Amino acid sequence: MTDRHSAASCQGPYGGENGLDDCGDPVRFEVARHLRAPLRVCPVHLGPSLLLAAGVLWPPVIVLVR
Ligand SMILES: [Zn+2]
Repeated sequence: MTDRHSAASCQGPYGGENGLDDCGDPVRFEVARHLRAPLRVCPVHLGPSLLLAAGVLWPPVIVLVR
């Protein structure tokens, strides 16, 4: 997960595992997850993803991408 191209899009609050629910906004944050690829989300979905996505560490580990 080293691609930081500006075309990267939000994986939505469920970690991109519900394909139709992808939001498509630019990624601003990466949320670390246990045994899964980091979840890349926009600001709107940062909060919901912490609570809804599978494998999110607690307390959350969040990296500002751009
Ligand atoms: Zn989003």
